[in-house]
Amino acid sequence: MTIVIDNEPKRMCFKCEQVKLNTEFYREGRPYCKECERTDAAKRMREYNGTLRGKASQALQSSHKTIKKQGYEVLDDLTVEQIIEVFEFFDGVCAYCEGKFEQSQLSMDHIIPLSKGGANTQSNIVVACQSCNKRKHDREIRARFAKEKHDEIHRYIKFVSGDESLVNELEEVVLKMISEKERESK
Ligand SMILES: [Zn+2]
Ligand SMILES: [Zn+2]
Repeated sequence: MTIVIDNEPKRMCFKCEQVKLNTEFYREGRPYCKECERTDAAKRMREYNGTLRGKASQALQSSHKTIKKQGYEVLDDLTVEQIIEVFEFFDGVCAYCEGKFEQSQLSMDHIIPLSKGGANTQSNIVVACQSCNKRKHDREIRARFAKEKHDEIHRYIKFVSGDESLVNELEEVVLKMISEKERESK
């Protein structure tokens, strides 16, 4: 309901209960003022980002941003549902160090980095803790992951794709990365 005070149309916000100028509301008929609506939206966003779906959605958005910004020409068919599946598969365990973590401390990581032509697809993503993620450019950790965790990669890729040929494809790329690494360290 609009009231006119000092020739300025004003109304009361039903949340903060302050009388404010009509321009402080997004539209006629909205019960809360802009400030209260913004605070509410931010709170909802924080709550959503704290959920697995919110986290997955953020991870997907950020991967799309990177691909676009860097102009990577990679296969990109990842979905929010698939990222959720991967988080559930690892169930709080970092794929690299195998430490157990709170879901909030884990993030999505590409086994073969996008910068190396790795695809933004379910069979190329795992879940990594903050400390392993910081070392994500360290090829040693990837090489170790590939060498020592062959069975797990196998199990994992079968889980996400059911496609055996992808296992060989991934192994080939990772083995190439290992041999590059070994050549560099000579
Ligand atoms: Zn208000
Ligand atoms: Zn880790």
